[in-house]
Amino acid sequence: MSITINLSKIRNNEGTSLSFNLQTEKLDLLAKEDLLITKPLQIWVEVKNTGNILQLQGEVETEVTTNCDRCLEKVILPIKTNFKEKLIHTSNLKLLHYLTKDEIEEEYVVFDKDNFDLTDFVRESIILAIPLKILCAENCRGFCPKCGQNLNRSSCNCTTDEIDPRLAILAKLKRD
Ligand SMILES: [Zn+2]
Ligand SMILES: [Zn+2]
Repeated sequence: MSITINLSKIRNNEGTSLSFNLQTEKLDLLAKEDLLITKPLQIWVEVKNTGNILQLQGEVETEVTTNCDRCLEKVILPIKTNFKEKLIHTSNLKLLHYLTKDEIEEEYVVFDKDNFDLTDFVRESIILAIPLKILCAENCRGFCPKCGQNLNRSSCNCTTDEIDPRLAILAKLKRD
């Protein structure tokens, strides 16, 4: 499924703006298998034509369901994020004659069809809004490395005198 807006009304009308209110049920994040969109996506987009360059601003709201990195319990992440892009239609590229092709590609998204696909921007903004470390709770205790007990549910009888080797080095440094 793609998320598209039609830019025919605005692409050559300097000074005008257009807004779009889109909703889509599903989006594949094309990331990890346990990263799923579990709420229809709400997407608001505003496009302004400033000198035949289109300034696009979007807002995305949804929910991602995934698993805790430590205990693998389900974690629901409410997502509210946004994206910003500068677009230029191929017929207006002459306006940027002072820039090289690479400079244009770095700063602008060049398009040549009236139907503009926002899917990649929406996907990217969601991925960027997901924290690198996902925990069900700040103090999630994860699994016992010896017996596999989920330590959030109950403790186990394994001795816990073994410490993280990185911490052991720190402890040694402190002693010395
Ligand atoms: Zn957890
Ligand atoms: Zn244990």
